[in-house]
Parts: sequence; C-alpha cells; structure tokens
Amino acid sequence: MKIENNYNLSKLNTFGINVNTKFFAMVESEKDLEELFNLPEFKNNKKIFLGGGSNMLFTKDFEGIVVLNKLKGIEIVKEDIENVLIRSMGGEFWQDLVAFTVDHGYWGIENLAAIPGTVGATPVQNIGAYGVELKDTLYDVEAFNIENGEKKIFSKEECELGYRESIFKNKLKGKYFISAVILKLSKKPARQLAGRGKKMYPALRDFLEKNKIEVKNSKDISNAVIAIRRSKLPDPKVLGNAGSFFKNVFVSREHLRVLQKNYSDLPYFEDNGEIKIPAGWLVEQCGPTDGISWKGYKSGNVGVYEKQSLVLVNYGKASGVEILDLVNKIIVSVREKFGLELMPEVNIV
Ligand SMILES: Cc1cc2nc3c(=O)[nH]c(=O)nc-3n(C[C@H](O)[C@H](O)[C@H](O)COP(=O)(O)OP(=O)(O)OC[C@H]3O[C@@H](n4cnc5c(N)ncnc54)[C@H](O)[C@@H]3O)c2cc1C
Repeated sequence: MKIENNYNLSKLNTFGINVNTKFFAMVESEKDLEELFNLPEFKNNKKIFLGGGSNMLFTKDFEGIVVLNKLKGIEIVKEDIENVLIRSMGGEFWQDLVAFTVDHGYWGIENLAAIPGTVGATPVQNIGAYGVELKDTLYDVEAFNIENGEKKIFSKEECELGYRESIFKNKLKGKYFISAVILKLSKKPARQLAGRGKKMYPALRDFLEKNKIEVKNSKDISNAVIAIRRSKLPDPKVLGNAGSFFKNVFVSREHLRVLQKNYSDLPYFEDNGEIKIPAGWLVEQCGPTDGISWKGYKSGNVGVYEKQSLVLVNYGKASGVEILDLVNKIIVSVREKFGLELMPEVNIV
C-alpha cells in the first residue's frame, strides 16, 4: 500500500478548500485495510476516513493520515418475493447505488437520490431527504475496528441512528472504518416510504402534481427528486459547498409556545413526536445587520446560497477559516434573535 506525503485535499472535499494532509492512503480492498492498520503512519497518527468529502469543512492542514475509501462493488445477497437485501461496498458513490436499485425496480431509497458522497458515509450521519432516512432501509453495517483489525457487523439498532446522528459520529467516532452497508429494499411499490409511512413529502408531491407525473416506478420518484434538488442546490463542481450546514433545531412544546408569542409565523414540524424548527428559516430571519438577511449574503470568498439559506458557499478561493467565521456569525445572530443554538451538520476539522 502506498502512503503519500503532504497530499493536497482540495479535490477531495466539496467545499474545495485548499489544505494538505501529512499522510494519505487509498483503500481499494479489505486486504489494503489489514495492511494499513499495521503501518506506523496509521498507528501513530490522528486519522480521518474520507468518502466524497461532501460533509467536511477543513479549516487547516491535517497533521495525520487521511484514508480515502475506494472499496467497490454492489451485489444482491438475498431475495424473496417481497424484499431484497443489497450489499454495497462503502466506496461506491451513493447515487450509483440509488441508480442500481431503481434500475432494478426496487423501492426504498429513491427519495435519497443525488445525495453526494459515498455509501460508507451514509450511516455516519443517517442521511435523510424528502421524508426518508437511511434508517428506514438500513439492514446492517460492516466495519473494521481500527485497533485490532476485526470486522464487526453492526445491526441497525447497534448503529444508534438518529436525526443526522449515529454511534459512528458519537461514541465510536473514528474507531471503525465502515467497509460495507446492507440495505433491505422492497420489490413492491412502497410509495408510502416517501414520507415514512405518512403522507408523501409535500415538495415532492407538489412537483409530481405540477409536472403531471404519474408514478409508475421508483425511478420516477428518484428522477423527480434529482430535478428538484438540481433546481434548489448548487452543484459543488461549480460552487463549493457541503449541502445544509446546520441541523434543524429541536424545541420542547413549551418553548415553541413561547417563541410563537413573538413569532406567529414560526414554522415547525413534528418528527417522531419531536418538534423541529427549520434551521433554514432561522438563518433567513437573521443577517449581518438589522434588516438584511443572510440569504444571498456574499462577503469576499464566502456567502450563503441565494436559493437556500442553509447552504454556505465558497465563491472561489475561500479558506476553511473564512467559512468557519461566517458559520460562527450566523450562529451568534440566531442565538441573539431567537435564543436558539444552531448545530453544524458538517464535520469541522
Ligand atoms: C450539495 C449537497 C447536498 C447534500 N444533501 C444532503 C441531504 O439531502 N441529506 C443528507 O443527509 N446529507 C446531504 N449532504 C451531505 C453529504 O452528502 C452526506 O453527509 C454524505 O453522506 C457524506 O458522504 P461523503 O462520502 O462525502 O462523506 P465525507 O464527507 O467524506 O465524510 C463525512 C463523515 O463520515 C466519516 N466517514 C466517511 N467515510 C467513512 C467510513 N468509510 N468509515 C467511517 N467513517 C467515515 C468521515 O470521517 C466524516 O466524519 C449534501 C452535501 C452536498 C454537498
């Protein structure tokens, strides 16, 4: 296995931040992993596992080793009349897996189409979009313990998946390398999945109605999701970004009532009995100065995307520190106006 020194990461993170890592390794097989775990450059240094770099903000050079996941392969491991188990290696691009499943006519992850990044990273933050989360179809996760090299199969429950959370982001952060993910998908139309057993996600339903699309298969849904996303989100190849920077904010029912006294138009939604306030709305209501919204804000190399205030963008040669500076200003402005604390969804290094 080749270890590179002083390796540039600007093409390996979707913000396009120009930083270097002291050591760099690319893993293409499980055997590579075994070898890697025994190398001094791995054992004696801090580590970052990297997929597509679409949920990362690098603020400085990394004085450790970055390991890029290039494990490839998608296979059907088991099927019956109703369901199918699909095992995808972690280095596959998530969208390639979505395309594979909808091309086979399977249902379950079509709402998660076009989320950038790799399969191996999807359990880390339990990716979610359009009313569906990875959690809804995850069967189990294969991962290697980096201390002893042993492979462990994590059941869905053991992954402790929550809203953009998992055991891999908390208790076991950096302790396991996720090598493969197994999903349980449905062979029968499961359109109710488009909203987790509830109604179809409103933006998706409206798009289908407006464009008179009659859903015949899961590909129709995934195509619709791709079209909606293209119209709302910047393409990282054109404008560096990491998708939504902040998580929606949980509040108690009591707190919601207090906030509504001052902000009668405060949007909120209930998710599994919990109340969430859209972080995008909060950001939009605040700004660098009174009367000016963050939405569409631009200063030097950084800014907030004009169509979606949760997306921070790199207009050119921004450093991670410049973006972090904007992040902190936004957090302070929301705290001062609403008394609510925004939490980043993106991993800041
Ligand atoms: C335009 C855009 C839109 C987005 N939309 C969404 C969305 O709708 N919903 C959503 O949930 N997310 C969204 N994201 C965020 C991002 O795409 C997801 O979080 C994605 O799963 C990250 O995958 P990645 O391979 O790029 O992970 P990376 O950014 O490379 O890594 C993310 C984290 O996972 C860890 N990690 C990565 N691979 C492994 C591994 N093999 N083993 C252990 N740990 C690992 C990393 O160390 C890091 O902590 C969006 C991002 C962009 C740029």
